[in-house]
This record gives sequence, C-alpha cells and structure tokens, in this order.
Amino acid sequence: MSKKLYAPSTVKSIKDSHDFKFSKSLGQNFLVDKNIVDHIVDGAGIGPDDLAIEIGPGMGVITSEAAQRAAKVVAVEIDKTLIPILKETLAEHDNVDVINQDILKTDVNEIIETYGEGRTAKNIKIIGNLPYYITTPIIMKILEDGVPASSITIMMQREVAERINAKPGTKDYGALSVAVQYYCDTQIVANVPKEAFMPQPKVGSTVLRLDIREDRLVELKEKDVFFQVVKAGFGQRRKTLSNSLMGVSGITKEIVKDALEAAGIEPGRRAETLDLYEFAKLSNEVFDRL
Ligand code: SAM
Repeated sequence: MSKKLYAPSTVKSIKDSHDFKFSKSLGQNFLVDKNIVDHIVDGAGIGPDDLAIEIGPGMGVITSEAAQRAAKVVAVEIDKTLIPILKETLAEHDNVDVINQDILKTDVNEIIETYGEGRTAKNIKIIGNLPYYITTPIIMKILEDGVPASSITIMMQREVAERINAKPGTKDYGALSVAVQYYCDTQIVANVPKEAFMPQPKVGSTVLRLDIREDRLVELKEKDVFFQVVKAGFGQRRKTLSNSLMGVSGITKEIVKDALEAAGIEPGRRAETLDLYEFAKLSNEVFDRL
C-alpha cells in the first residue's frame, strides 16, 4: 500500500473499509504523525543489518517505516481483526512477518532464534507504540527473560517514562526506576502531544529508549533479595530504611541494623536517596545475613 499510513484520512478509510473498531481495552491509539513515527524508528537507530521486533503494529504505520530501514521486521499483534489489514498495508514489504499473539505470552527469545539468523544483540532492536495498560509488564518481561537485544525504543504514557528515567532524590524515583536501570541506560527521545494519535489518549506520551547493558553495573549475590529490598524500601517510601526494610521476608531488626551498617548506609535515610550501587551493596549485606 503506497498510501500514507500516518495520514488521518488513511486510518479512517482503512477503518471504514474493514469495519474496524478501535478497542479501548487493547490500548489502540494509532499514530497519525510521521515525525513521531520517525522519532521511534530513528531513535531506535535501526540499520540495514538489523532485526526489528515490533510490539503492537496496529495498522502498520511504524512497521512499514522500520521495514524500509531494517533487514527484517517481526511484529507481534494481539488483535486478529488487524491481521487482514496488516496484510494489505504491508503488502509491498517482503521483509515483514506478523505474528498474531499476545506479547505477554510470546517467547521473544524464540522469535530471535527463528528470525535472528545468527545476529547478536547489537543488531536486534525492539520497538513499538505500546498499549499503555501493559507497558511495565512488557518491559520487565523482556528484561527478565534476558532477551538478547541491544535496545527497546517505545512510546508509553509520559508519567511511566518519567518514573523509569528518574534519578535518585527525585519524586519520580522509585522501584520501577531501579528495576529498569539495573538492566538499562535510559533516555527520553521525545515527548509526544495527544494530537499525534487517533483516537487521542487522555494522557501525554513519551518515546523512551532503553539501552540494555551487556554487563550489569552491579554484582548481586541474589537478584531476588535485591528486588525485595527495593520493593520494601519504596513500599513505605516515607519511612526510614530501618523501618521500611522490615518488609523483606524473613528479616529481623538486627539484620536490618547490621546490614545497613555493613553497607555504610545511615539507618535514617529513605529508599529514594539510594542509588543502584547502594541498593546492590545493601541487598548483598542482607543476603549474607538472612
Ligand atoms: N503501532 C500502532 C501505531 O503506532 O499506530 C498501534 C499502536 S496502539 C497504541 C497498541 C497496539 O498494540 C494495538 O495495535 C493493539 O491491538 C496492540 N496490543 C494490545 N495489547 C497487546 C498484546 N498483549 N500483545 C500484542 N499486541 C497488543
């Protein structure tokens, strides 16, 4: 299809000819602004040797731009009513495969095994304009599954992007910031106005790029304990660490006191003041004492 997929008139005419209905519950806010599509595809730095994996292609507006830059694009779309539409809109690209599946039930590692053709992480990039209702689970699943990709460049609700990107000592800094920054360097690519979508969402959006580090910045004795410490700390963020850490399962007042001391962290501090290194040090000391 040579029609401009980002033109509102194209989206309307495809919608009418296929009797397609936007699904609110699937987070269907389609992009109708070419600049923003470019922000995602250029922001991801997709090149001619790359495999791009797209989450939620919708009518294919990002997919078709990615297909012009990448060696191969694999797009995972849950809505089966979009599959015949994508067949039409992407007909001119022979390097695109669409998989009709729920991304949360998809083994992305398997997609890479099937379509990666020996590529290493450097040439594998994940992109998308995400359904906002599952932004965090999607990101955490990709990171926790150890998907060998170099970056994830995605549109999400602005508030979530700000939380993921937040630095210690700021109001947005929390468990989500630490969890994502444990795996990635984060960078805001662009803030996006509501007018860039059809239908328009109620909230502002942001394109965020996550660069997955090959090696972790901190060494953890036990990842589970690290995440428990982070969760407990921010679970009661107004409390001092000596109180909030009591939320870690199996911990005692004595362990909290000794672990804080051994990590060189003042017991009167709050979780929001700790950086990644301090959380790592503290959780390793807790682990040694549990
Ligand atoms: N990429 C298109 C665009 O920018 O115009 C559509 C973006 S729209 C915000 C989100 C897309 O994700 C929709 O096409 C929706 O059907 C799809 N989607 C929602 N939940 C999904 C899931 N669990 N797995 C895969 N795709 C999903």
